[in-house]
Amino acid sequence: MPDFKPKKSVIDDALDVQKAVALVKLGARLQVLQAELPNLSRDRLLSVYKEIRGNSPPKGQLPFSTDWFLNWAPNTHSSLFMGIFNQMAQRNPSTEQIDLLVASYTLYLQTVKSIDNPAILTLTRAWRLYRFCAAGVLTLHQCKHCAGKFIVDPYDLNTNYECVFCEMDTRVGPKVDFEKKMYQELDWSDEQAA
Ligand SMILES: [Zn+2]
Repeated sequence: MPDFKPKKSVIDDALDVQKAVALVKLGARLQVLQAELPNLSRDRLLSVYKEIRGNSPPKGQLPFSTDWFLNWAPNTHSSLFMGIFNQMAQRNPSTEQIDLLVASYTLYLQTVKSIDNPAILTLTRAWRLYRFCAAGVLTLHQCKHCAGKFIVDPYDLNTNYECVFCEMDTRVGPKVDFEKKMYQELDWSDEQAA
């Protein structure tokens, strides 16, 4: 076999830029773009980001803790998103992860909007979540009462697992009154920094 590097395809390049645009429009941080689109240089990703958002991306680390996903309202949203993501992945086995991420996050946004909920799971958090699940650091587990699947820490004792809806007092974190939409008043400062 002759040793040559194939020239970068113009079409693949254009598709990558298109994906970057879609991710930035959904709120992706620069680190997400860099991880998902390694063929595009940081400078080009930065240009895409600035052109769409009109300013430079925030500096600083992405939130890394798994705890956020286990708290009350974040857990319901995270479980919803991951359920959508897994269903899409199952039905479209040849679809790339990045396309699944964009499609399932878009559907998540449409779903929470349709039930008049704020989208407390940002795209960056959703990205972090699917990576955590792929790494086995978080997983979906079935509630013994309602049979819904919810994000749990696989190292917790999950044998008699009850979800946040069925057992309203088991989880730490801010209490959420879904009727009064108190969660809209909560301070998601950790998330806003994301
Ligand atoms: Zn339940």
